[in-house]
Amino acid sequence: MNAERKVHIKSFGCQMNVYDSHRMADTLAPAGFIETARIEDADLIVLNTCHIREKAQEKVFSELGRMRVLKEAAARAGRRVTVAVAGCVAQAQGEEIARRAPAVDVIVGAQSYHRLPALVARSERNGVVVDTDFPVEDKFDYLEPPAPDAIRARGVSAFVTVQEGCDKFCTFCVVPYTRGAEASRPAAKIIAEVERLAQAGVREITLLGQNVNAYHGRGLDGRSWPLARLLARLAEVPGVERLRYTTSHPRDMEGSLIAAHRDLPSLMPYVHVPVQSGSDRMLERMNRRHTRADYLEMIGYLRAARPDMAFSSDFIVGFPGESEEDFERTLSLIDEVGYAGAFSFKYSARQGTPAADMPDQVDEHVKSERLHRLQAAIDRNAASFNSRCVSRTFDVLFEKEGRYPGQIVGRSPYLQPVQVMAAKAFIGRVAAVTITEVSSNSLFGVLAPSVAEG
Ligand code: SAM
Ligand code: SF4
Repeated sequence: MNAERKVHIKSFGCQMNVYDSHRMADTLAPAGFIETARIEDADLIVLNTCHIREKAQEKVFSELGRMRVLKEAAARAGRRVTVAVAGCVAQAQGEEIARRAPAVDVIVGAQSYHRLPALVARSERNGVVVDTDFPVEDKFDYLEPPAPDAIRARGVSAFVTVQEGCDKFCTFCVVPYTRGAEASRPAAKIIAEVERLAQAGVREITLLGQNVNAYHGRGLDGRSWPLARLLARLAEVPGVERLRYTTSHPRDMEGSLIAAHRDLPSLMPYVHVPVQSGSDRMLERMNRRHTRADYLEMIGYLRAARPDMAFSSDFIVGFPGESEEDFERTLSLIDEVGYAGAFSFKYSARQGTPAADMPDQVDEHVKSERLHRLQAAIDRNAASFNSRCVSRTFDVLFEKEGRYPGQIVGRSPYLQPVQVMAAKAFIGRVAAVTITEVSSNSLFGVLAPSVAEG
């Protein structure tokens, strides 16, 4: 039995990093590490980093300065702290981190974190270790499954990564370089993971992938399964009441997946399908390989399959060469689709990607001004979507107690937080709620009569 030590894992960036952080914690547990929320108490600190935009990367380097201070304070108190940098910045800039940040002991890329316990042990003996290979073995085969207590502590909604990497090479994006070529996990492994989560009380599963709808893992019959087939099988797992998937690429939104939204009641009617821009000229330069019309056609098919469907997206403003007219095409697309929500970013030049070398980079002030206008358009659409929810009754998955006594909070099918006065016993359950009121970022409702009486 290993002596008990404490690990603090700090996640930056996307949901895939949140999932990876959980799996790192699960894999470190048999080596004697228990998780702590207090960084000051940790014997091992893991920064699980994001490289997607320059800002995300800068955050990591400023955090590394803090690590040095923490480490020195611990050393003065006679305690040794190990610092590991994991994830996409580690993958892309491992050597640079080793050079610039002497506080770092372990550098581990996104595909090798199953080796973390061994790397930590090695660094304790021999100093700094760097592992940024794309190993031939599949890390998922070597990761420890989460213990039931750890699953319960993480709540009733869980992520499961089913696909990683990307072969699309959008001209602005580092993912194909940091996460590698596209690869899908076999269905049997995913089903086993979902069964384990459901047995411990998880009711909602979100399947994750950089391009989740490009999923093509080995199915139970030995053939390649598309995402729709995997979703249909997961819908049969006892206890799983809700299924979601993110992030989708518009080009991979194939017929079987659209039909799954018609046929699977547990598949939530809310899809994140990033378009990035509403201008065909920009879409072409971004190498998105679809047009505005293709995208709108796909939205139309999804709405025909499931009339209560809602959408969210990612947008980039100030991509090289973006004119005011191109930008206005994006604004008009937002109104045409009527998004329930969206993320928006200023274009950030990433070294090694084709767009970073395009000549017509957009001025920072123009980017900021466009981002402001874009966010106003998104907020207006989201507010309109929320206000149309008043008087509707829909299922809410209750997750936790609210801020006020007697209040509990859950999520609508559209991921809006919903606050209801109801017994704590509803936490972990799905119940019908009639929406009575809307604030800027929450819905308020009452249990539908059949539930309240039952
Ligand atoms: N695979 C997804 C897709 O194709 O839409 C996107 C995954 S990426 C991790 C998440 C989002 O980050 C992208 O949709 C894009 O809006 C944004 N992003 C990626 N690279 C960026 C860059 N260089 N500058 C600004 N935003 C960027
Ligand atoms: Fe990046 Fe998504 Fe494009 Fe792949 S499809 S390169 S992950 S933006």
